[in-house]
Amino acid sequence: MNAGIYIHVPFCAVRCPYCDFYSVRYSADAAKAYTDAVCRNLNALPEDLTADTLYLGGGTPSLLKPDMIAEITATAKAFISKFEEAEISLEANPLTVTKERAVEWRKAGINRLSLGVQSFSEETLRTLGRKHSPAQARQAVQNAVNAGITNLSIDLMIGLKHQDLTALRQELESACALPVTHISVYLLKIEPETPFGQNPPALLTADETADLYLEMDRLLTGAGYEHYEISNFAKPGFASRHNSKYWRCLPYYGIGPGAHSCYDGRRFAVPKDLNAFLSADIQPMNVTDGQALTDGEQIMLGLRLKEGIYPDRFPDVKERLMKAAKPLIPQYLTYQNNQLAMTPTGWLVSNSVLAALLRDIP
Ligand code: SF4
Repeated sequence: MNAGIYIHVPFCAVRCPYCDFYSVRYSADAAKAYTDAVCRNLNALPEDLTADTLYLGGGTPSLLKPDMIAEITATAKAFISKFEEAEISLEANPLTVTKERAVEWRKAGINRLSLGVQSFSEETLRTLGRKHSPAQARQAVQNAVNAGITNLSIDLMIGLKHQDLTALRQELESACALPVTHISVYLLKIEPETPFGQNPPALLTADETADLYLEMDRLLTGAGYEHYEISNFAKPGFASRHNSKYWRCLPYYGIGPGAHSCYDGRRFAVPKDLNAFLSADIQPMNVTDGQALTDGEQIMLGLRLKEGIYPDRFPDVKERLMKAAKPLIPQYLTYQNNQLAMTPTGWLVSNSVLAALLRDIP
């Protein structure tokens, strides 16, 4: 079974006020030491590991110099049997996607970019503390396409008070006008340990957000994107192969401070400490769950996907699961061809649906 390899790149140029991911300010020296440490850790992965996805996430991986990215992809290649067919993703801030860098990334094997666009509205970008403009986001897409990177994902964020239905339609119209294969739309969540946690912006109400979510489902599916996961839309054949491993409970190996892994039925996390990562021969890892992938966990993650789950694969709990599911069909769940899946309305209230389904399931 092919695994995924995730590299957490913990550098950002500036901190966005809503974000609680682990990152520190970029410095060239730290980036060089970090690249060496990542390659050391890649070389220490199990010899028999085979992967078909590599994902450089962060942080802002595109801040690394292209030759550092090339060193990481070249080292990871030892574990990727058909490199040209693998999904090799890089998360990028639009401001870093110059023509020259995009060409270098493509040469390094990057064939998918995930761009942190967040919005095509100046007002929203300023509220979110983002430094790029809508025009720079569009130029980043064009630079990537010109360099031959045509599998492009953009992230958008919704939830600010001024983002009404009209604003949403404009956002999605701007997104669909670009040659992007994948769109992720995240709901702004206020994390306590962030500047927004101390001083939150005005947000939409739950009812307003629900209207937006259903309208987004309607508009993006109408534009040819499949709503394949609770927050993700893709043109046919372009669902994220790497992220799908998380939802399908397939193995993945994480490298870098703050990276998570899941394999051999256990979950692991690397401490969020760049210095500890740099100074150790092999990264320290803590077991965060010694009994991962219980039936409940697999059901919960699988129901994030449009395809849902096959209850037959959970013989110990199938009867209890289907009994709990029955009253939620057809509004919140569907059950067809032995597959149980959430409807978009179910995704909207997924926490309540999951609580009802998993009440008696470990
Ligand atoms: S949103 Fe991205 S760029 Fe902003 S602080 Fe978080 S990881 Fe860094």
